[in-house]
Amino acid sequence: MRKTTAVIAALAVAVLAIIIAFDAFRSKPLESSFFSMNTLVTAEVEGGEAENCLAEIKSTLENLDYNILSRTAKGSAVYKLNQSGEALLDKQTAEYFSALADISRQSGGAFDFTLGAVSDLWDFGGTPSMPDEAELARALSHSGFEKISIGDSKISLNDKKAVIDFGASGKGIALDSIKACLEANETKRAVVSVGGSVLLYGEGEFAVGIRNPRGGSGSSIATLGITEGCVSTSGSYEQYFEQNGKRYHHIIDPETGYPVDNGLISVTVISESGLLSDALSTACFVLGIEEGSRLAEHYGAKVIFITEDNLIYTEDAVRDIITVTDKNYKFGG
Ligand code: AMP
Ligand code: MG
Repeated sequence: MRKTTAVIAALAVAVLAIIIAFDAFRSKPLESSFFSMNTLVTAEVEGGEAENCLAEIKSTLENLDYNILSRTAKGSAVYKLNQSGEALLDKQTAEYFSALADISRQSGGAFDFTLGAVSDLWDFGGTPSMPDEAELARALSHSGFEKISIGDSKISLNDKKAVIDFGASGKGIALDSIKACLEANETKRAVVSVGGSVLLYGEGEFAVGIRNPRGGSGSSIATLGITEGCVSTSGSYEQYFEQNGKRYHHIIDPETGYPVDNGLISVTVISESGLLSDALSTACFVLGIEEGSRLAEHYGAKVIFITEDNLIYTEDAVRDIITVTDKNYKFGG
């Protein structure tokens, strides 16, 4: 009798061990990292058809880049638009572009995806240098959101010299497409980052670091505790050069054509939508703390500003979810 009990107990332990092992195996996230859209993509996906999902994420980003957003791939909508003055759009892309045009209007033109010719002169992605003033003024005169018309199936330039550049929002749009892959593959939980934008998807809480604006890509100054959503950061540390002790970086003030010089070094936006978090992080950087906060509120997004004197500005509700981990940074205001 005692022997039977021992055997049953041993069997129960073995079955439990198998269940635990299986569960651990099942709930271990699959990881992948690769380059796409000119940046590093890292993905951790758990549950459902995770493997298939990772493959779909990769192909989705390639399609998005080569067919729609790339400025250099000859088949992309943006390339055709910049070359010929118009391009056909599928319904989803037309919706993305209309949403961006709305942000341009709501930000009073601070968010401006027609600044391509100005950005090209600065060449922050290549060999940056101070552009010629007259050339800069000329490029700037061909920018502005009134230079573009967006219909349900077509986008066209009203000024053939305007150059479209979705660099400030492409990575966020990528996150929204990735979310659709995660849903279609019934995954449980995922963390996917595309450059400075990250998607938190599924069950539970997530800890997201805010990058140290003066440190390397691995160091952070604070941690955000959030549930599902997208977090994007725009920083003056991403692409820049220094001349006579002054930093010139890749976020341009559309009023002047020169890099924004308003005391901010980093702006982080939290939103349900990747398009919004990415576009608004750039827009709020240009607008500064007061107007940027108003713009974020209009879109139901949260915003965190960091100034060059190491002060963090945000609303009280966001302070509650931030843990500052670097003693050099403090809340301001
Ligand atoms: P992000 O890192 O998301 O803030 O995007 C910065 C990129 O957006 C730059 O490298 C430019 O390609 C583009 N850009 C620069 N200034 C602006 C602006 N005021 N509005 C929209 N896009 C901009
Ligand atoms: Mg952005």
